[in-house]
Amino acid sequence: MSDKNVEIRLASRPTGWVTADNFERTESPVPEPSEGEVLVRNIYLSVDPYMRGRMNDVKSYVPPFKLGEVLQAGVVGQVVASRNSRFSEGDYVNGMLGWQNYSLSNGQGLYKITKGGFPLSYHLGVLGMPGMTAYVGLFTIGHAKEGETVFVSAASGAVGSVAGQLARIHGCKVAGCAGSDEKVSLLRKEFGYHAAFNYRKSESLPKSIAAVCPKGIDVNFENVGGAIFEAALWNMRNYGRIALCGMVANYNDAQNEPGPRGMMSIVGKRLTLRGFIVTDHPETCKEYVSKAYQWLAEGKLKYRETVTKGIDTAPSAFIDMLKGRNVGKQIVQLAGE
Ligand code: NDP
Repeated sequence: MSDKNVEIRLASRPTGWVTADNFERTESPVPEPSEGEVLVRNIYLSVDPYMRGRMNDVKSYVPPFKLGEVLQAGVVGQVVASRNSRFSEGDYVNGMLGWQNYSLSNGQGLYKITKGGFPLSYHLGVLGMPGMTAYVGLFTIGHAKEGETVFVSAASGAVGSVAGQLARIHGCKVAGCAGSDEKVSLLRKEFGYHAAFNYRKSESLPKSIAAVCPKGIDVNFENVGGAIFEAALWNMRNYGRIALCGMVANYNDAQNEPGPRGMMSIVGKRLTLRGFIVTDHPETCKEYVSKAYQWLAEGKLKYRETVTKGIDTAPSAFIDMLKGRNVGKQIVQLAGE
């Protein structure tokens, strides 16, 4: 075991775009667990869009990161020392730990996972929070039905790539948009989207969406917000549902943007808009994970990751993901499995 623990802390709160200067790298000795604690060797770390919100000092559904403290993240790791009766040395675990090589945990919110079948990193993506989000958003919130048209924004990302595939497996017509030709090709060829377009090349977002959803949208799985959300609103069918999953286009805005135009169509088309947070739906998440194992094994569900190596790459991996440089789930690998 290395005797050094490298950690990434919040050095300052960003105004507008997050930059490398907002992070601080520190080193400390690897800690010893106290009674009731375990020491985890962190193997994979997840960087996610919601973390940008936690860098602001505002009240939200999760508390803000504290200045000077080690940032938190979903992590998959291995217990290397245990003074907690629930865990043994060698156990693989998943939980909210730190942007660091080794984390202490009192066991709260830490779950054992089984190694085998799929890489451990899948527990941070298709078998973890992003996959669960896709399932909850599509079915519990969006009530997607066979034969309906589903439109997904940020369609090749961690949540979007699963949402589109689940809709396709369910018998929906699926369309989406993404930020490069390479991603659009992936949507069509690997993730089985029926139609997709590169929003960066679109001259008219409402027209581009109309072209890929000729009958209109029954369920809009909204990951992006801003102009893409507004264009989707124009294309909704009567009684359509909008699952408001996130608005990543706005997370680095220094000031709140004005809302989308066309809100009156919500009345005229009798639309339902509902925001959601995946952690409010633990039973549905369990249901999803058992189905996802099967779909992955059968090859019906495909999964892509972008992996950077080493704790020092975590800040740039996070910023790159927010800028759309990731394909599929953005992961940081800290150690070998
Ligand atoms: P992704 O893997 O999709 O990565 C973020 C992607 O957002 C980028 O790759 C980029 O893709 C896209 N993006 C960034 N800026 C813009 C922009 N200005 N316009 C259009 N697209 C943009 O992240 P996740 O799958 O982890 O998250 C997707 C969404 O789901 C986020 O809004 C997130 O906050 C939300 N979320 C919500 C949860 C919930 O419980 N409600 C839980 C988990 C995630 P591209 O190249 O295509 O532009």
